[in-house]
Amino acid sequence: ETAELRNDLDLPAKDARHVLHPWADLQALGSDRPVVMNSAKGVRVKDSEGTTYLDAIGGMWCMTVGYGCEELADAIGDQARQMAYYTSFGDVSNEPAAQLAEKLAELSPGDLNRVHFTTGGSTAVESAVRIAHYYFAAQGKPEKRHVLSRVNAYHGGTYLTQSLSGKAADKTHFHYETEFIHHLSSPGHDPDRDPLSAEARLTELLDEMEAEIQRLGPENVACFVAEPILASGGVLTPPKGYQKATLELCRKHGILYVSDEVVTGFGRLGHFFASEARFGIVPDMIITAKGITSGYQPLGAVLVSDRIAETISKAAPSEKPVFSNGFTYSGHPVACAAALTNIKIMTRDDICGHVRDVGPYFMARLRELLDSPIVYTVRGDHLMACVECWTGEEAGPNDKNMALAARVDAYCQEAGLLVRPYENLCILSPPLVISRDDIDEIVGIMGSALTRAA
Ligand code: PLP
Repeated sequence: ETAELRNDLDLPAKDARHVLHPWADLQALGSDRPVVMNSAKGVRVKDSEGTTYLDAIGGMWCMTVGYGCEELADAIGDQARQMAYYTSFGDVSNEPAAQLAEKLAELSPGDLNRVHFTTGGSTAVESAVRIAHYYFAAQGKPEKRHVLSRVNAYHGGTYLTQSLSGKAADKTHFHYETEFIHHLSSPGHDPDRDPLSAEARLTELLDEMEAEIQRLGPENVACFVAEPILASGGVLTPPKGYQKATLELCRKHGILYVSDEVVTGFGRLGHFFASEARFGIVPDMIITAKGITSGYQPLGAVLVSDRIAETISKAAPSEKPVFSNGFTYSGHPVACAAALTNIKIMTRDDICGHVRDVGPYFMARLRELLDSPIVYTVRGDHLMACVECWTGEEAGPNDKNMALAARVDAYCQEAGLLVRPYENLCILSPPLVISRDDIDEIVGIMGSALTRAA
């Protein structure tokens, strides 16, 4: 029956008729035929019509050990046979969840020793904000509930995490009414293009953050939620020292720092967690998802400091005896088993070391594309990167530049390469097992696509 399904040539038509796609131009999909992917191995995926692509998107930032990993498939199958599901509400747990929590505590920095499992990144970010609210309410400070985020941030697709996210275009036709969320400026600094020096930009960003905290009153601000490098907002790297300086500002004002490592964690920057290893900070909470299972199972987690965990555990029983946050699939045994095996493989094969080795090569080769007249800038870090297109007139996500990037993406796809189109950007986040030859292939195809589109 599975083989029959795979040979069903009508699949794109069925999909177009019946699937309401997330984050899609639904009008375009109505007239177009979606590409239906149905098999994958290593860094390549194959569609229902037999075309193979090099997946430089890495699924959606989540592929670490590569597609078709038998060991991971076996771990998932074995756990599904042993015990496919049980709840972890209340005082019930399961073996993989307990083992994974211990492993995550070991891999995470500082005293982030408690793990609150969720179903993905959005539910983890949302849970972190609720933990921050609960933490202060438990100390008799319910008014300390305002949340700082940034323009261009992406923290998920739920109501709260979309409100936290900072892309105006994503909010069209939605009406968010979360008056406790405040957006600071987008912190990206591009040394090739920014008129300000990194130092001047850093000063500007910190002054703005301090002023916003003062405007709200530090006693009213619960937490700052921040990706160390903004991923979906366009691979935006803040100026050097920003993460540390913003953490210090938070500490000074008793504000919790939530580091959203959904993309930067699990090896994409060469470490299991980038917060401390790359940016020298031990936040109060770290969010992880995506690469935690190499995308083989949906899973997210909030790593919480001992201090926060103890405080919320001691919330006065008469006031609020239950920490009322969680999901049917929190601590899902099959997802946790996948994460445990994923960590085993990543450690054994030193995948973080591999990223530290090929990451600079990836960025250096991509920067060769700056020779194209339609490339405004190339930016990124290790295996998260983006090529920004422009017609040479005005930079930014205007109609002309977006149409140009869409052509580049289409030409790449025609030549067997998937890059992620986003506004006027081509975003790249390949599986972490990418080789130098694969990188050469990516740059070769992109170079031809840029020449064709120019
Ligand atoms: N946080 C960041 C930084 C992300 O990039 C994403 C997804 O792209 C999310 C949170 C949301 O994760 P999910 O889509 O698993 O809910």
